[in-house]
Amino acid sequence: MTSQAFFIFLFQSARLPKEGETIHGHNFFIGFGGKGANQCVQAARLGAKTAMVAKVCTVTMSNCPSRVPSFVGQTSEAATGVASIIVNDAGENAIVIVAGANMMLNKEELQDALAAITSAKVLVCQLEISPQMSLRALRMAQENKVTTIFNPAPAIPDLDPDFYRLSDVFCCNESEAELLTGSSVNNVEEARCASRELLRRGCGAVIITLGAQGCVVLEAPESTSKHVPTTPVSAVDTTGAGDSFIGALAYYVAHYPAMRLEEVARRAGQVAAVSVQSMGAQSSYPHKRDLGAELF
Ligand code: ATP
Repeated sequence: MTSQAFFIFLFQSARLPKEGETIHGHNFFIGFGGKGANQCVQAARLGAKTAMVAKVCTVTMSNCPSRVPSFVGQTSEAATGVASIIVNDAGENAIVIVAGANMMLNKEELQDALAAITSAKVLVCQLEISPQMSLRALRMAQENKVTTIFNPAPAIPDLDPDFYRLSDVFCCNESEAELLTGSSVNNVEEARCASRELLRRGCGAVIITLGAQGCVVLEAPESTSKHVPTTPVSAVDTTGAGDSFIGALAYYVAHYPAMRLEEVARRAGQVAAVSVQSMGAQSSYPHKRDLGAELF
């Protein structure tokens, strides 16, 4: 289904440190992540059969073999990706990632995953592996009529125009939409404008997530976007909410192919709203059994 593996070091503190400042935190834990891994875990918890294409350091492989799924290459030339996340008492975060081994995933390793990619119902790609490998994977999927979901994160300013054409669903958050369109995206109206601009570049559909404001959905050839609100909840930690949303999106697209994208986004938003109510990314993702029957 997807890509990237990371170790996560999560710190909780009353506020985020300012530049040059050292502050005391009151909680810390180590977990697993990476956008691809998070999205994979969320989709699997809802009942999807998933596979990951990624690359890690050889040392990581020997330390935790049981955690590493099928198409994960190894290298001794770079460390496994790591992310350092600081979360304040308002549930806001600041994140630094070093993609490490993920960026060394090469076309031969991708080719090894060809059968898994082309027999999948949905392929999800992000930008924590090299853009060239993400494009190649999206092409493999599109040529084999596999539905593609592309999440342009972490965002890069000059995104290859082929990414739009290869995306059945192009799903990003406000800051990614802002960087890609060059216009501010702080509210529903601005997200509607940005979704029109992104759709014009060739995607099948655009979803822009807006945190507590839900998301905006625009499908080709429609010109009217839909605002899909999410459930109002008390957020503890929004880290990985976007990945929960995309993992759930992939699950619903694969399992309910006839469902309108607006309804798919509504349900994915409900799943992600559960994830923001506890700490961490993967550790906060709900299983199917934790969710109401109306979501299935
Ligand atoms: P992150 O980078 O932290 O993973 P993101 O910026 O990619 O997140 P968001 O737009 O913040 O993603 O959130 C994705 C979805 O999660 C939203 O569309 C919404 O459904 C849900 N969500 C996020 N924050 C909240 C919140 N405070 N209350 C309810 N739902 C939320």
